[in-house]
Amino acid sequence: MKVSVDADTCTGCELCVDTCPDVFEMKDGVAAAKSPVVPPSAEDACRDAAGNCPVEAIKIEE
Ligand code: SF4
Repeated sequence: MKVSVDADTCTGCELCVDTCPDVFEMKDGVAAAKSPVVPPSAEDACRDAAGNCPVEAIKIEE
């Protein structure tokens, strides 16, 4: 599974970092994926983060 954050859309609310700190981190005020490939153990949390992002800035590729 792959993940990316649209930095132009992200509002920097940090919700995804709280939900899935293994995958997301804040960089220059917006969220970023630590790695484009999601570790299997973090996939569920990553899906939750994408589903909960208020501006749908997180894109997942299964
Ligand atoms: S939840 Fe969405 S808007 Fe909030 S920091 Fe993460 S990517 Fe950005």
